[in-house]
Amino acid sequence: MTETKKSFISKEKDFTKITDKNPSHILPEKLTLDSHLQFQCHPGVSCFTACCHNIKIVLTPYDILILRKRLGIPAHEFIMKYTEPTYLEKTDMPGVQIKLTEEKKACPFVTPEGCTVYSDRPSACRYYPVGMADFHEGGSNDAKEEKFFFIVKEPHCKGFEEPKHWTIGEWRADQGVDLRDEMNKEWLRLVMRRKSFGHQASLSEAAKRMFFMASTDLDSFRKFIFESSFLDTYEVDQETLDKIREDDIELMLFSFKYLANTLFGAEGLKIRDEKIKKKVEEIKKRQDEALKKAEQEYLELKAERERLKKEQEKRARELAAQKEAKG
Ligand code: SF4
Ligand code: SF4
Repeated sequence: MTETKKSFISKEKDFTKITDKNPSHILPEKLTLDSHLQFQCHPGVSCFTACCHNIKIVLTPYDILILRKRLGIPAHEFIMKYTEPTYLEKTDMPGVQIKLTEEKKACPFVTPEGCTVYSDRPSACRYYPVGMADFHEGGSNDAKEEKFFFIVKEPHCKGFEEPKHWTIGEWRADQGVDLRDEMNKEWLRLVMRRKSFGHQASLSEAAKRMFFMASTDLDSFRKFIFESSFLDTYEVDQETLDKIREDDIELMLFSFKYLANTLFGAEGLKIRDEKIKKKVEEIKKRQDEALKKAEQEYLELKAERERLKKEQEKRARELAAQKEAKG
């Protein structure tokens, strides 16, 4: 069986690229919520759990949060035990994917009876076989947005032979993907934004580390907010602080805002006035020092030129005197 990627979102250009060559078994038809789908996955299908092997399942921050809560372990333990590093959507943004078992290349949560974390399964596991393309122009909330859906039909998947009929909307409601869409949206936009820059610009190592930490380990991100100089730099209102101190979802949504602000300069976080003033003063001080240094160097250069000029004149006078004495 070849490796499959459970892809759940893409931009139109990716969609077009994939359907042109069709390496991902995407049916080249744009669908809406009212479009028809004949499909069902249940323990009776002969391929049951086949798609939980040889697969790449990239985890979103929400997936990680929900799964590690389900397992009752801290984020760093979940990351170490159940995931491995990957790059997101062919960018230089670091993320994690589920680590498959050595021998069977199986998801660690699959058993012959099915998924042991089914009600908390990752977003990618919920979307198959309905992919969603989401294009969003610009970074603001009122920017133009368009969505459509498409079917991914893996050759080994027998679910399409089942007699159950749905609309895409009914299928999505059954799989609980609307909440996932909402929770993953801003994070996916960060990835897509980075992707749209291509190789023209690269993220600094510090930016990559921050993106990875905020995306995978909310416990550490919370420490960063409350135990570093973060709050000396950023102005965050008390209501938000109270929320993100206690509520992981609020903290996750805040982390997306912070990343959009630091990685792409998006609005949403305010740097303290005194910090800006201090920065402006520092820049001015540096400029003044540079100007002073340049002035000093200019004066030294001028003095040196004067000295050389005088020396040349003196030498010329001496030569002229010697010539006259000889003549
Ligand atoms: S999380 Fe569950 S549904 Fe997803 S691949 Fe693993 S076992 Fe399968
Ligand atoms: S029917 Fe499709 S989705 Fe269900 S187990 Fe088989 S391959 Fe996976």
